[in-house]
Amino acid sequence: MMLAVATRDCWHCGVMTHMAPYGGAYIVPLDGGTIQQVWCPFRCDNCNGLSIAMGRRLSSQPAARIGPTAWLDQVAEPKWLPVHASGKDFPDVPEHISQAASEAYA
Ligand SMILES: [Zn+2]
Repeated sequence: MMLAVATRDCWHCGVMTHMAPYGGAYIVPLDGGTIQQVWCPFRCDNCNGLSIAMGRRLSSQPAARIGPTAWLDQVAEPKWLPVHASGKDFPDVPEHISQAASEAYA
């Protein structure tokens, strides 16, 4: 049995939580097919918000025989999108300005 390890600070609810694969993964072949770029949507266990994870693997590695969704679920640090929460902190300015800047950023 494979254990799911995908966790992150959810960009939507801000909670460090488990992300579960949500649908199938897509493989984008790179460098003539020697590299596989694997993309898959994941759903936050806390708020059901969706994130996208991406990892790269060599087509020749034994790990490439694992289904792309299960493989990506076990990647230690995939690239997550969106990267940040929908707002952004601006700690060095007065609060009324940082709040407006955060809202403008979202
Ligand atoms: Zn969430």
